[in-house]
Amino acid sequence: MVGLYRAGRDSVMDVVVNDNLRPDAQVLPFYLAEEETGTPLVRGRIASVGHVASTILARHDYPQDIALLQAEALAMTACLSSTLKFAGIFTLQAKGDGRVRTLFADITETGAMRGYTAFDEDSALVMPAQGISNLPQIMGGGYMAFTVDEGATGGRYQGIVELDGPELRDAAMAWFANSEQLETAVTSTSGQGDDGWQATAMMIQRVASEGGKKPSKADIELHDDVWHTAKTLMASVKQTELLDAEITPEQLVFRLFNTLSPHVAPARRVVDECRCNIEKVEAILKQLKPEEADDLLDDDGKIRVTCEFCKTERRFGTDVLAG
Ligand SMILES: [Zn+2]
Repeated sequence: MVGLYRAGRDSVMDVVVNDNLRPDAQVLPFYLAEEETGTPLVRGRIASVGHVASTILARHDYPQDIALLQAEALAMTACLSSTLKFAGIFTLQAKGDGRVRTLFADITETGAMRGYTAFDEDSALVMPAQGISNLPQIMGGGYMAFTVDEGATGGRYQGIVELDGPELRDAAMAWFANSEQLETAVTSTSGQGDDGWQATAMMIQRVASEGGKKPSKADIELHDDVWHTAKTLMASVKQTELLDAEITPEQLVFRLFNTLSPHVAPARRVVDECRCNIEKVEAILKQLKPEEADDLLDDDGKIRVTCEFCKTERRFGTDVLAG
């Protein structure tokens, strides 16, 4: 397992920043500071991607349980990716042998996000109980992989965890525990209201003490104290607060952590944007074996290809096939 974190620094400032975002399509970085010096002791993120979840889910006719899981996975992916310094794509992908076979969400470093779920349409609905995802019931046995892919010139880093907790956050925290020395707490949820979907993920992470300098006993006690209080406060957040479109992420930070000197940084935009294009599809078609291509032929002799993510349908003549 290769650590995904390149440095303990905040990685958000050098990407797209906009102060006038809708409160439902952004990642808001924040930190909790030592009161006198302003030194960050805990870093956090709130990803609130209801608007993006609404437009993505509108293209898929998912049953309610699948849509809830997909929306939550989108929020979790946006939240986790924003803690990493990378130029490429961050992916959350779970494989199961239950109702859901594949749960997928990915996001680029500029916040372009997409997702889809492959599931067994003959299986029974698995509704979450009181905001708990019921991951084992809906996915069966399987694993979740978190991947950073920086393309041909960069690196590829992957962490894989088994799906053995009841919630998406259990997998995320297992991944952090495996890949990163810093203590981390994560929570996420999703829901559908009158104005569309809401999907929110929040995480906090303990800041490493300054390298080279041996912290004093008083420093260690202060850091421990702030970390444990922050975890307790985050655990107190209600699902309804996380999903309330009337509460902005910034308001939520101050409401939850007001005793711990909270500071917020500029938000990072998240948008619904697929990366498919005609050249990529043609390149895939050229590599097909003749019998695979036959399966894609329509009655009118055309090849029809639909993007799994954005549902864009493209039609090709057989001349795009090799040979
Ligand atoms: Zn697409």
